[in-house]
Amino acid sequence: MSINKLQYTIPTKPEFGVPMKVDEGVFLLKMPIPYALDHINLWLLRDGDGWTIVDSGFHCEEAVTIWDAVLTGFCNDEPIQKIVITHFHPDHVGMAQWLAHKTNSTIYMSQIEFLTTQMACQTYSSQQKAVRCQYFSRFGLAQAEVNKLQDRIGGYVTGVPEAPISYQRLIDGESLSINDEAWHLLQFSGHSPGHICLNNRQRKLLISGDQVLANISPNVSVNFYEAEANPLADYLASLSSLSTLHNETIVLPSHGRVFKGLQERTRTLKEGHHKSLDQLRDFCQQTKSGLEVIEELYGNRLSLFNLSLATGEAMAHLNYLIAIGDMSRSGDDVYQYKTN
Ligand SMILES: [Zn+2]
Repeated sequence: MSINKLQYTIPTKPEFGVPMKVDEGVFLLKMPIPYALDHINLWLLRDGDGWTIVDSGFHCEEAVTIWDAVLTGFCNDEPIQKIVITHFHPDHVGMAQWLAHKTNSTIYMSQIEFLTTQMACQTYSSQQKAVRCQYFSRFGLAQAEVNKLQDRIGGYVTGVPEAPISYQRLIDGESLSINDEAWHLLQFSGHSPGHICLNNRQRKLLISGDQVLANISPNVSVNFYEAEANPLADYLASLSSLSTLHNETIVLPSHGRVFKGLQERTRTLKEGHHKSLDQLRDFCQQTKSGLEVIEELYGNRLSLFNLSLATGEAMAHLNYLIAIGDMSRSGDDVYQYKTN
């Protein structure tokens, strides 16, 4: 077992809706979200005579109330210069268009995250529903479960009632100027297709979004519309890249605590995935279905939402093993996996 050597640089716990200073001109805004994971960390950065906001929250009544209070109170009705969105997940992009409209400001995203938001906000056609159904069925989920998962379609738009209408593109390797400081843009895949992290090399501050978190292993999933994808390879590559940043970097993640110790954290996350891969190499010595793999990795008492995440994540590990030639898949109606 590896020892957690992370340093938590902020001794106090933030309160919902009350911006908390984490560095000069950098404030954490803790916002409620309707998941088991009950919050997201948003960031308010001093930017000239106004502010830049990083990530926006899941659209809900509390988020509207908090933003109304923060914009007039803490931000003193000063101009919002930019609204930066790390990726398309609803807790990050949900309030973006609302904020852009309210503050007459511009949304900044990577192109692929902007387009993925548009796609995720669309109503599924019956054919899309059928392909999604097949994705779960092939993985061995029972028809009753598949039906329940079909009934849950549309959850995304609850949190994102309005996709960003227009935006300015963030490009990997370029810099974004905030308060006359350069924040270097790093774009990664694995958790989402083109997730942006912002790195202030001068001050050794990294706004990491969901790409790296202190206590949670970010979800790495295969989606129904790209069932042969290998997102785990992308995610592991992103960890290698992040591990090259200065180890004194203070990481500002979207969930959980601000921390220092990027090399330790990326190593632990990598080890966790490699442990799961080893477990599956052993487990699939005998042919197994996807559902059996889910139960081996995550148990058999998952909520419906977690079952859908577990399907994507189990498939990500299996597709990784197939890609490196350690696993074979057979079957058409229900996939069967066997270690080579
Ligand atoms: Zn996310």
